[in-house]
Amino acid sequence: MKYNSTTNTDVSVSASQAISQGISDDGGLFVPCEIPRYSMDDIEALAKTDYCGRAKKILSDYLDDFTLEEIDECVTKAYTTEKFGASNPAPVVYKTNNGVEMNILELWHGPTCAFKDMALQILPHLLTKSLKKTANGKEAVILVATSGDTGKAALEGFKDVDGTKIIVFYPKNGVSPMQERQMNTQLGDNVNVCSIKGNFDDAQTGVKKIFTTDDIKAALSENNMLFSSANSINWGRLLPQIVYYFSAYCDMLNDGKIKLGEKINVCVPTGNFGNILASYYAMRMGLPVKKFICASNSNNVLTDFIRSGEYNKNRDFYTTISPSMDILVSSNLERLLYHLTDCDDKKVKEWMNELKSKGSYIVGEGLRSKITELFYGGFCDDEETKNTIKSMFDEASYLCDTHTAVAINVYENYVKSTGDNTPTVVVSTASPYKFSKAVLEAVSTSETLPENEFDMVDALHALTSQPVPAPLAALKDRKIRFNNIISVDEMPQYVLSSLGIK
Ligand SMILES: *Cc1c(COP(=O)(O)O)cnc(C)c1O
Repeated sequence: MKYNSTTNTDVSVSASQAISQGISDDGGLFVPCEIPRYSMDDIEALAKTDYCGRAKKILSDYLDDFTLEEIDECVTKAYTTEKFGASNPAPVVYKTNNGVEMNILELWHGPTCAFKDMALQILPHLLTKSLKKTANGKEAVILVATSGDTGKAALEGFKDVDGTKIIVFYPKNGVSPMQERQMNTQLGDNVNVCSIKGNFDDAQTGVKKIFTTDDIKAALSENNMLFSSANSINWGRLLPQIVYYFSAYCDMLNDGKIKLGEKINVCVPTGNFGNILASYYAMRMGLPVKKFICASNSNNVLTDFIRSGEYNKNRDFYTTISPSMDILVSSNLERLLYHLTDCDDKKVKEWMNELKSKGSYIVGEGLRSKITELFYGGFCDDEETKNTIKSMFDEASYLCDTHTAVAINVYENYVKSTGDNTPTVVVSTASPYKFSKAVLEAVSTSETLPENEFDMVDALHALTSQPVPAPLAALKDRKIRFNNIISVDEMPQYVLSSLGIK
């Protein structure tokens, strides 16, 4: 199985090359040249195994330059009961709100309490094995610029993984108190965390510059190291996400919620378009999916795109209570365009160039109607998000986070406007305790709320009796290990010093 670039189909690399490289040299994203196809018998067989068994089958069909033993090792190390609190890392719970039934797929039982763990717990293992095959086992240095969730999930994933070091940069005043504490208390011998004076874009630009500076690359090479990325456009992050859509279908089958072959819808709170794209790959592989419901917050660039065929990032940027979806350029959409145009790399390249040069592009009528046939786009603002958290809690006894609430709100409106009662998987992407302030504001009737993050967690717990995830509760007593603040100009030297180079 080879991987092509979305902007040049002549590029053809192995799975391990696609994972170690992260992005194609021509700037395109790696996509599988063919998509494995499962029959209903195959899905029935998946339903008889556990999550790890499902993951091994799906990963091995895409990573054909990995041995079964290697895949077994990656999967078994990633999805442990110790890390996910149960043998099934991605359980489905059944709830009804406002008369609408939903099958909620909870993806936040991992060590950092957000869905990024589903991919970032396994990526380090896939990456180290890929590098052994393609880079003679050089030590990988992972550089991350983060606005919150990704940095912590990457730190937890790469913590004490042999052959890797990880350095995370975050904007000093650009992450939530809980997120900052999660990162600054990070354990592990191969981790480093540093804040920078500036915003997320400054951090991102700084990291990109280090990646492409020849002197720094040469210095690493002399020390038998190379840079690598845990970015969300890496195929090694997308692939593990396909698994939980199959797994949810199997669990619903086993629970008698659906019959084999029956179609479902999926509704996904969307930012960079990675999570929802994984469900599209699952459908292409044979999972019976009728509609993909793409839920956005006020940064509703995708809603407009799905409805009009015009992608336009020239608009106001809103800082919302669902910050992980505050994105105007959804990178993984490029892969969908590639597949829906039957691998038209020239067209994709043209659109991506237009996006870079003028911030917008328009797809033709043929593609637009293909998109609206498969996808439904909807969005809600912060007030509607909070109202949904409240009604889910009051009526369905379910406490959800702000991102999940966006998905539930959009799904309820979808059912109202279409009358479509197809069983639907609504994806839940974070623990409510990760966004305690907004969730507390939504469910509390009290006038005054505590100001300290951990007091808010306690207040939310007192009010709702929902268990606080152990990794978040433990943070309160953890020692701060990192409290560096540097300027963007100091980032290259910081990287070299922390690697012990100069
Ligand atoms: C990253 C993230 C999202 C968005 O996922 P994409 O794959 O970028 O679309 C949604 N919710 C939470 C909590 C996240 O951390």
